[in-house]
Amino acid sequence: MARITNIHSHVFTGGCAPDYFFKMVLPSWADRWADEIKFFLEKPWMRRIIKAMASRRGHSQLLRYLQFIEVGTQSTQEEVFVSMRNAYAVFGPEVRFVALTLNMDHMDVQASNHARIETQLAEVERVRTHYPDVFFPFVGVDPRHLSGVALRDWVKEKVERRMFFGIKIYPSIGFFPFDAGLDELYKWAEAEQVPVMTHCTRSGTFYTGAMDQVLADPRPSGLNPMAPEMVDIHARITAFKNNPFSWKDSKYGCNIFLHPQNYEPVLRKYPKLKLCFAHFGGDDEMLNEKQPLRDKGIDPTNWHNEVKRIMSTTNAQGDLLYPNTYTDISYTLFRDKIYPLLLPLIDGPLGDRILFGTDFFMTLREDPEAALLKRCIDGMTMERFRRIAMNNNDNFLRSSRYDPASPIA
Ligand SMILES: [Zn+2]
Repeated sequence: MARITNIHSHVFTGGCAPDYFFKMVLPSWADRWADEIKFFLEKPWMRRIIKAMASRRGHSQLLRYLQFIEVGTQSTQEEVFVSMRNAYAVFGPEVRFVALTLNMDHMDVQASNHARIETQLAEVERVRTHYPDVFFPFVGVDPRHLSGVALRDWVKEKVERRMFFGIKIYPSIGFFPFDAGLDELYKWAEAEQVPVMTHCTRSGTFYTGAMDQVLADPRPSGLNPMAPEMVDIHARITAFKNNPFSWKDSKYGCNIFLHPQNYEPVLRKYPKLKLCFAHFGGDDEMLNEKQPLRDKGIDPTNWHNEVKRIMSTTNAQGDLLYPNTYTDISYTLFRDKIYPLLLPLIDGPLGDRILFGTDFFMTLREDPEAALLKRCIDGMTMERFRRIAMNNNDNFLRSSRYDPASPIA
């Protein structure tokens, strides 16, 4: 029987994240106080006091942030996973979860005491052995950690051991998706149909050091230097570097590293690659809201439209050029306003390649998981929900190494 899958979730803990991670995930008003806030909120007794104060005064936004930090600072990834799974109890014990690990070891040159990627992955493997039929992690990769054949073999071993079921990349922490170091990995992933999930919004986690540490070269060549898109890509990097507004604030680096067009040189070389652009380009882009880099003329495009364009690209015969490109509605699903736009897309030609995921526990900044799940089902009807959370997610997960229809993982 078909099963529901949440294709996009996170279970890493504060212990896996660098000390400066919380700078990025707190609202901008808290920027100046990020270190102090993290220090205090990691103490359970302090959280209890603040929570009591906030609920007495009805500070719902503060309460949600506390909830988010509470989950993020739980002691084990297994606890985080179990707290997410509880929200799906109405669907029975069969619901599957894809947990996306993240390599956070190269986000800055500052020293940090966090647990490195190997420790994060070892813990995740332990969770998987406890929940082999419902917990499906993806392995987080970064070409500055390993590259080429070494990276491919490192991932391949984990997938063949059936501990990991796909690959997660998060380029805004300081590399391009067309980095030559990822070439061998993509080649193998395409051949084996192992899915690749990438973050795709103009904001999110970013390289927190100085931009010239990761964007020194305005004309990076990468794995497909002759791809026609490289001309636009180089022009955008140059405009970004020449504008003091974007260049001095590393959070805008997301706009450059994560741009959907950066994947076209990869897809030209590996057109059957299974690749999911998470978040459908972002709720803000879906609703065409103001964007600093668009206003400055650095990048006039709308990322939601870019994702749809890449997913719909055809050849002269009308066949899809990149038939295995997907998108998911994780995080984006928290906005009520997106549903009128989303429904025709699910009912339209892209409808088989739109995936259900939530982005737990990042989304705890907006609402508890059970509330998001309900909003999503109410917003799209149970029939559409089942279609994208079962059929579409199964198609994305299916590889030469894993058949989602098999009863036992
Ligand atoms: Zn995510």
